[in-house]
Amino acid sequence: MAEKLVIFSGPSGAGKSTIVKHLRDIDEFALAFSISATSRPKREGEMEGKDYYFMSVDDFRSRIEDNDFIEWEEVYPKQYYGTLKSEITRLTREGNNIIFDVDVVGGSNIKRMNRDKAISVFIKPPSMEVLEERLEQRKTESEESKQKRLKKAKLELTYARRFDHVITNDDLKRATIEAEKLVRDFLTE
Ligand code: 5GP
Repeated sequence: MAEKLVIFSGPSGAGKSTIVKHLRDIDEFALAFSISATSRPKREGEMEGKDYYFMSVDDFRSRIEDNDFIEWEEVYPKQYYGTLKSEITRLTREGNNIIFDVDVVGGSNIKRMNRDKAISVFIKPPSMEVLEERLEQRKTESEESKQKRLKKAKLELTYARRFDHVITNDDLKRATIEAEKLVRDFLTE
């Protein structure tokens, strides 16, 4: 049985992946990262089975048909992301706490399925302008992908109230400390 689930969500560029990475490196938290499946192209520096399980759109759709996911979303058109049941089985067997970096819909769904043993945290950018700057600075994003992410972010911000906690990432160091405190309190309660 997995002990506890830690869910981080928020718009792309809000800083959640950086915060999640920091938390994964804290040994006492024993947080194993839930590696999602995705049909988006691999970015430079990403590794199969470490960052994501990369697959084609067709393969992703057939795994949906086979009921292989605990949750999945078409986060952007033709870009599917989802949590495989086999991944949760793998991590659960190892007796870890599990940390998720998922979109706002996936995050609220995983929380709903695991009310008592999950904490859900929404990472909010200080403003749309700052979010745009951050996506701009990410060299991995094409102009089209950046625009898609910005457009989506407006809708995503409306999900904040479904989460247990909201952290505004106006200062990464402060936001990271706040996240670490929330997770420590939750894991030790
Ligand atoms: P990116 O392409 O920047 O890696 O991720 C895009 C969005 O998809 C992010 O908000 C990320 O958290 C989300 N995402 C990653 N994995 C999953 C997943 O398994 N399920 C859902 N619902 N969203 C995911």
